[in-house]
Amino acid sequence: MSERDTLNGLISSAKRAVFFGGAGVSTESGIPDFRSADGLYNAAYEYPPETMLSHGFFMSNTEEFYKFYRAKMIYADARPNACHSKLAALERAGAISAVVTQNIDSLHQKAGSENVLELHGSVERNFCMSCGKKYGLNKIIESGGVPRCVCGGIIKPDVVLYGETLDEEVVSRAIKYIAAADVLIVGGTSLGVYPAAGLCGYFNGKHLILINKSETYLDNRADLVIRRNIGEVFSEIG
Ligand code: ZN
Repeated sequence: MSERDTLNGLISSAKRAVFFGGAGVSTESGIPDFRSADGLYNAAYEYPPETMLSHGFFMSNTEEFYKFYRAKMIYADARPNACHSKLAALERAGAISAVVTQNIDSLHQKAGSENVLELHGSVERNFCMSCGKKYGLNKIIESGGVPRCVCGGIIKPDVVLYGETLDEEVVSRAIKYIAAADVLIVGGTSLGVYPAAGLCGYFNGKHLILINKSETYLDNRADLVIRRNIGEVFSEIG
């Protein structure tokens, strides 16, 4: 059986599949994976991305944080690709129960997915650190320097920075769906970022599918390993 037929067979049998995705899901939407490209930033910035995206750096160098964040983490014009769209269709068809993502671009919701668990938060949500007032992405894009609330407080993106812990409720919901899944599709992630990647260890269902260009620690447990662009693979489903 071809790779494509095997994939279609596994997905058509699914009743509560979960998709677990990472940066590779959005690269075909034009959003680069900053972890695989840090050489790119060395010339323009004084610190590595992992430093600039840390909680400590946000607190101590807020203006510099926002300079990097606006330039490299926000892609307001990015559109969902075939992977996002097909996942939304599979959810509507009742095959997929949840999308768990490490991405912060909210492209799954833009494609129409409803049950999306964003382990690392979203650039779309922002809040005032003093009064809690919520702001959309435009507030961050349109304000120069450090974005401020009407109360004067500093606005922080609702994204999990290095040195911060994941939202417990999001994590426990992700574990619940992964543990109950009959099929787990892991895509666009090398499963190297913890604790997010460790959540796949809760999977106890029938079929594991891995779609990623490089090796992952779960490859040897998978029924099917596909090493191609994920948008291309998803455009062949159904
Ligand atoms: Zn405020």
